[in-house]
Amino acid sequence: MEGILDLAYRMLQKYALCDYCLGRQFARLLSGVGNKARGENLKVVLAMEANLKLLMNNMDAANILKTVAENGMNRYVIKFAKLLNYQINEIKTCYICEGKLTDENFRRMAEKIVEELKEYEFSNFLIGATIPAHIKEKDDQIKAEFALTFGEEIKSDITREIGKIIEGIMKKPVEFATPDVTIIVDIFSGTFTIKSNPVFIKGYYKKLQPNIPQAPWICRKCRGKGCDACGHTGREYSDSISELIGNPALGFFEALDYKFHAAGREDVDVTVLGNGRPFILELKSPRKRFVQLNQLQDAINECAKGKVEVLSLSYATKKDVRDMKAKSAITSKTYIALVEFESSVDEERLKELCEKFRNLLIHQRTPSRIFRRGEKVRKKYLYFIEAEKKGDKLVEFKIKAQGGLYIKEVINGDGGRTVPNIADTLGTTPINITLSVLEVEE
Ligand SMILES: [Zn+2]
Ligand SMILES: [Zn+2]
Repeated sequence: MEGILDLAYRMLQKYALCDYCLGRQFARLLSGVGNKARGENLKVVLAMEANLKLLMNNMDAANILKTVAENGMNRYVIKFAKLLNYQINEIKTCYICEGKLTDENFRRMAEKIVEELKEYEFSNFLIGATIPAHIKEKDDQIKAEFALTFGEEIKSDITREIGKIIEGIMKKPVEFATPDVTIIVDIFSGTFTIKSNPVFIKGYYKKLQPNIPQAPWICRKCRGKGCDACGHTGREYSDSISELIGNPALGFFEALDYKFHAAGREDVDVTVLGNGRPFILELKSPRKRFVQLNQLQDAINECAKGKVEVLSLSYATKKDVRDMKAKSAITSKTYIALVEFESSVDEERLKELCEKFRNLLIHQRTPSRIFRRGEKVRKKYLYFIEAEKKGDKLVEFKIKAQGGLYIKEVINGDGGRTVPNIADTLGTTPINITLSVLEVEE
């Protein structure tokens, strides 16, 4: 088997390689040593061997020394070769990186990044690197030509070295899984981009009055352009829950945009009371991420006074968004519905209704009012109904059901598309339904 020194010498005979680009090809041997040290040490030992042969009057060794000096570009070897009065013809640049992988370049790049990172609040970071295709190809070509199987990618040298310098200056660690900021460097053009990863805040919202949709609702007539029907606002409703919560947060976090995630949704005319509905606000490209959330909570509640109220704000993660979405399908919800019927409601039938609607599986075809989603039959559990007569034709229901069950249709039957239903059971038609979400259980 060919030794490492012989292999390194064959590589240097053919290609000019800097310390990083030579050392990197042996990266998985003796972990813990930097690639620069690997490359430099290989060259130093090659030169020492050449020196030994020269001392034993093996004059062929002069060529070895010259090759290592010229193609290795190592300052110690060059200095020594010059000391022996060898003519060093030309100092070449590295075949792979074209001379870009140097400590000066890494430091210069790191310092520029540190300067710009001062604009951001973050507790950890990650460096990524883009490599021009022709550089990557040369690195791969050498690995293939010399059958090198214990090297690593050129990207690793760049990200590791710059990461170490920034860690040292800013006293903040590199984080691989969920970094606050990611910096993508291109050492070959001397440029970089900073990507500030999203901040997630979770909490609960109460919707204190109806007619506030969860997301902005564009005018159906003009599709947002503005018309007489919408008073030239382009919208069906002037407010939305996501804007009432998201807009103040944008300012606090100096973020570019936000995305509002909620655990299910309520109809636009349904209020949300009790403990509120869980939501997560995702703030994109934030410059601030150490915001006092009680101050944000106060600001939102002040701006949205009487419309929306948020509570229990805390920091969350991307995983919380996934978990919340997965859970909202199996979440149960409790509603309060004040229903006015066409004719007087029989007390006995109301009692029968409460007995019947207990852990009952409801078959529900997609409500006729929802035209945009495909037609299907949902089977969801209704856990209980409590009823209290508030007038001859007026009943207040408390209904607890599995997430995803459309409650209005349970009350009015939706022309027989939801069975069983309250209207059929009571034998009278609801003419007015006021619905609120009392509780969303996780
Ligand atoms: Zn190089
Ligand atoms: Zn309009």
